[in-house]
Amino acid sequence: FTTEAGLYTASDQVVVLTPDNVDSVLVNSTAALVVEFYASWCGHCIAFSPVWKSLASDIKEFSTASISALPLPLPSPPSRAELDNFFETNSVGHLALLFETSNSYVGRELTLDLLQYEKIAVRRVLNFPSCYLYYPSGIFTRLHVQLEARTFYTYALQRLPGVVRAGKSLPVTSDLAKNTTEDQLRPFNRSRVYMADLESTLHYSLRVELAAHPVIKGEALSTLQRYISVLAKYFPGRPVVNNLLKSVDTWLKGEKDTELSYSSLRDALDNTAEVPNAALPEGVRWVGCQGSKPHFRRYPCGMWTLFHVLTVQAEEAAGKDPQEVLQAMRSYIHSFFGCQACATHFENMAQESMSHVGTLSSAVLWLWSHHNHVNNRLAGALSEDPHFPKIQWPSPELCPSCHGVKNGEHTWNQEELLTFLRSHFSSEHLLSDYLE
Ligand code: FAD
Repeated sequence: FTTEAGLYTASDQVVVLTPDNVDSVLVNSTAALVVEFYASWCGHCIAFSPVWKSLASDIKEFSTASISALPLPLPSPPSRAELDNFFETNSVGHLALLFETSNSYVGRELTLDLLQYEKIAVRRVLNFPSCYLYYPSGIFTRLHVQLEARTFYTYALQRLPGVVRAGKSLPVTSDLAKNTTEDQLRPFNRSRVYMADLESTLHYSLRVELAAHPVIKGEALSTLQRYISVLAKYFPGRPVVNNLLKSVDTWLKGEKDTELSYSSLRDALDNTAEVPNAALPEGVRWVGCQGSKPHFRRYPCGMWTLFHVLTVQAEEAAGKDPQEVLQAMRSYIHSFFGCQACATHFENMAQESMSHVGTLSSAVLWLWSHHNHVNNRLAGALSEDPHFPKIQWPSPELCPSCHGVKNGEHTWNQEELLTFLRSHFSSEHLLSDYLE
C-alpha cells in the first residue's frame, strides 16, 4: 500500500494500492485479496519483498482475468484443438474443469487446494455446478462426488492416479513388488484395522521403546502402570495376549518398590511359564500400517490405531472415567514416545483441551479430531508416505454419511462419525490375518 515509490511495480503481478484505486480494487471484489502493508525503508519488508513477488507470480493464474480467460465456448465442452493446445503447453495428465455459477468460490478454492499437486490443473468455467475431467487423449468424464462442494472435489482430485504433491515421487508399484526386506509388503484392505498391527505396536512399545529406559521410576513408573492398566482393561486381543497383559498388570500393581528395572519388566513379559496361555508374540508384522519404504508409517501408525481402538473399547465397556485412556496415552507419549517433537506437539494439544473431555464418546471424538489436526500439519511433510497421503480422515468413500455441507462449507456429522468410529475400531471388525 503506497503513496510513493515502493518495493513493487505492476510487472511483479502485484497491484500497487494507492488512494485513487483502493476502493475500486478492494470494495465488492469477487476475488480473494491478500494485502501487504509495509514500509519501503523497513529492512524486514525489503528482505520479504522477493517472497511476496514470488507468491504473486505463483498465484497469478488464479486472478479472475486469467481464470476466466480460458477460451472455452460455453456451455459446450472445449474443442479438440483447445485441449491439444492446453495439454501441449501444460505438463499435466488431467485437466479438471469446474463448472459453476459466477458467485461461487469453489473453483477458486479448489485451484488453491490443488496448487501443490503435480499432473493436475483445475480451471473454472461459469455454468451449472459440476466437474469434468479431461485427459490428453481428448476423453473426458464427469467427476462423481457425493456433493458438488469443494472438499469432495479436493478429496477426489488428490487421489487420481499419478497426481502427487509437488516434490513427492510418484508411488511406483514396482517398488512394492521389489521390496525384499524382512517385511515383504502384504496385500491388505486399507479400510480395515488389523490385529497384527496392534500386536506389533505392543511388541515395539514394550520390548523396544521401553527398553531405552533401564530404570523406570517416579512419573515414568506411574505412566507405565497407567498404560498397562488400560491395556489390561480394554485391549481387545487374543486370549493369550489378554492373559499376558492382565498378568503384567497384576504384577505391576503388586510392586512396592519405587523404581523398576526394565529387565524385570522384560522378565514379566517373557517369562510366562508361570502363567498358562499367556504370551505377547515377538517381533513386528505390519499390515495396515505397512509403508512403501521402511522409514514410513509402522510404529507411529500403530500407536494412533492402538489408542483409537482403546478409546472405542472403553466406551463400549462403559468405562467409568472418560479421561482414563486419553490421559494414559498422553503420559505414555510424554514419557516414552521415541519422537520428542511429536511428544511436544501432542502435549501442547492435550494441555489445550484434553481436560474438557467429559464423556467416553467425546474421548473417541477428541482423539479423532486431534489426529486430524496432526494429519493437517503433516500433509506434504517429508515423513508422508506418498502411497498414504495425509487426509482429513475418514474420506467420503470410507464414510459418506460422516460428511456434509452447510452454507457451502464442509461439515462433519458428529453422530454419524461416532457410529463409524465405533464400528471401524470395534473388536468384531478387527481382522486377524497375518497373526502367528
Ligand atoms: P497415521 O497418521 O499414523 O494414521 C494411522 C491410520 O489411522 C491411518 O492410516 C488411518 O487409517 C487412521 N487415521 C488417520 N487419521 C485418523 C483420524 N483422524 N482418526 C482416526 N483414525 C485415523 N509425525 C511428525 O512428523 N510430526 C509430529 O508432530 C507427529 N506427532 C505425532 C504424535 C503422536 C501422538 C503420534 C502417535 C504420531 C505422531 N507423528 C508425528 C507421526 C504421524 O502422525 C504418523 O503417525 C506417521 O507419519 C505415519 O502416518 P500414517 O500414514 O501411517 O498415518
